[in-house]
Amino acid sequence: MSQGDPGNGAAAPVTSLTDPLDDGDRAPAAADGPTEKCGVVGVSLTDRAAARPLYYSLYALQHRGQDSAGIATHDGFQQHSHVGMGLVGDAFDGTDLDGLAGSAGIGHVRYPTAGGVNARCAQPFSVSFKSGALALAHNGNLVNADDIRDELASSGHAFTSRGDTEVIAHDLARNLIEADLIRAVKRTMDRVHGSYSLTVMHDDTVLGVRDPLGNRPLCIGKLEDGYVLASESAAIDTLDGDLVRDVRPGELVVLESDGSGFESYQLFEEEHTARCFFEHVYFARPDSVIDDTLVYEARRDLGRALWEESGVDSDVVMPVPDSGRAFASGYADAAAEDGAEVEFAEGLMKNRYVGRTFIMPTQDERERAVRLKLNPIRSTVEGRTVTLIDDSIVRGTTSTQLVELLRDAGAAEVHVRIGAPAIVAPCYMGIDMATREELIAAGRPVEEIRDDIAADSLSYLSVDAVADALASSRADLCLGCVTGEYPYDIDGETADRDVSRPAVGEPPPADD
Ligand code: AMP
Repeated sequence: MSQGDPGNGAAAPVTSLTDPLDDGDRAPAAADGPTEKCGVVGVSLTDRAAARPLYYSLYALQHRGQDSAGIATHDGFQQHSHVGMGLVGDAFDGTDLDGLAGSAGIGHVRYPTAGGVNARCAQPFSVSFKSGALALAHNGNLVNADDIRDELASSGHAFTSRGDTEVIAHDLARNLIEADLIRAVKRTMDRVHGSYSLTVMHDDTVLGVRDPLGNRPLCIGKLEDGYVLASESAAIDTLDGDLVRDVRPGELVVLESDGSGFESYQLFEEEHTARCFFEHVYFARPDSVIDDTLVYEARRDLGRALWEESGVDSDVVMPVPDSGRAFASGYADAAAEDGAEVEFAEGLMKNRYVGRTFIMPTQDERERAVRLKLNPIRSTVEGRTVTLIDDSIVRGTTSTQLVELLRDAGAAEVHVRIGAPAIVAPCYMGIDMATREELIAAGRPVEEIRDDIAADSLSYLSVDAVADALASSRADLCLGCVTGEYPYDIDGETADRDVSRPAVGEPPPADD
């Protein structure tokens, strides 16, 4: 790894901004441990309690985690924290917020997993040690947490969970005994491998760290009276703030504790990034800007590319709500521009009081949940050829159920178009997907999947179209779940990520 270190171990600040607006922006994770796929936030304000802004931003990031929610603040003397299970609204009541004193703080929402949901995994994770109090909120997943945990445990560190966040917290706490904050963070980043976007609070100093490959998002926002770090810019919008920019891969951002600015330390600089393409496809809010791209527009572009690659004549184009909406609108626009006579309409109505089907532990419950969640609008469907658009197929439950539902509602033909490539491998970097055995597309041709879901036709988007729509080279994206090639060495996975591919728009190398 190349490092932006001046030589004495501590990196120099590369930017110190008071007006940054001028500066331009489930996999079998930790083996048997809980997985960490979440939303994080941190704020430092001039003269106002941080608890409410943190609470509101957690609401804005609720889609990134519904298992638990928590906030830790610092009032200059001591740390306060409250974590609770469930949605943000369930985890806090008014009096909980009143007890969170101080104008600096961090917050976290945790992603649901089928098993192992318990309060010990809830974050922020807090630890007190010789040189202060530390709180950590983590989005991502380490691939070497077990090794570091074993080493720290053998030198006397007591762990309360199997989670990798606690590993980062202990490692950082140990480093902080011997080194200043910047050096300590750098040493920890040197040791932990995998994906992490962190908000950290050391006493009343709030920091944001993005892993050297920038796998998970993290951005900086400016408020009237301070600064905010958040997984997604939608959280900054909720606080009436302005997005300053993304935290760069390998960058440490330290918010001034008086809310007046922030310092940036580029601790690591890699030749390639490994930004998760699935954030833009599924995970992030469409109204968030991630790595300079508005997620909604990226999804529309993916939809347009889908029409260009595999458009099919039909009477009506309809999204799977809500995940397919932006894709279907881009697809329908591109179809109309090509002179196709196709109506764009809602053909499925969503019951918004049913949670995500994905967290249903059994297949039977997952199938039932699709029927609970979506009901066809007969007038859109009856007697017509239908193109159904979604962002992704994982196990195939949703598409199988929906094709059947649309046929029962009288559809003459059902064509399925997917705005991402086939998911053929697990995610080890922080998205709760499924195991390889559960993935309908793992090791199987599209025709077999089409047959399974009983569609008249099925097409996925190509990997190159994804890179194009995200204005990125394939070599700078993590495409592990659609290629089986990962940016890190993963036990049991053999294919390495191919970073020799050309940037978007460049001609392929001669031997490609
Ligand atoms: P499946 O029914 O298993 O094929 O899952 C596909 C549906 O789940 C699609 O409608 C996606 O929008 C959605 N989906 C994709 N990835 C995830 C995920 N990691 N967590 C929850 N839902 C997802």
